[in-house]
Amino acid sequence: MSNQWSPIYEKDQVSQELVSRYVSMTERLSSNTFFIDNKPHIVIDQDVCSGCERKTCITACPAELFVELHDSSIGFNYEYCLECGTCLILCSGDGALSWSYPKDGRGVSYLYG
Ligand code: SF4
Ligand code: SF4
Repeated sequence: MSNQWSPIYEKDQVSQELVSRYVSMTERLSSNTFFIDNKPHIVIDQDVCSGCERKTCITACPAELFVELHDSSIGFNYEYCLECGTCLILCSGDGALSWSYPKDGRGVSYLYG
């Protein structure tokens, strides 16, 4: 008789299942590591941003890297970017963001994906 047993989940699927059940989003984010490039991979154009009313980047960035400063300009820290692209997709300012991935393997590394 041949062994017909087959697992419901493959090994990698089990790992992902356990992670999604038992590891909170905060824990997942805090496990990220960053190899920071000296050159910003995202650059904002303050002239465009100053005329932006929505400023969606502030509320949309999951890493909370955008802030509105007292003079209504935008403060931004690229160093802990999650490289999700949300700011670029939702930005309403034409050409406000110059966006690229960090070079040479720099940027974020995810433990949990
Ligand atoms: S949404 Fe775009 S244009 Fe508006 S403040 Fe943010 S980066 Fe600037
Ligand atoms: S790519 Fe994602 S994490 Fe990085 S600045 Fe934009 S919204 Fe924030």
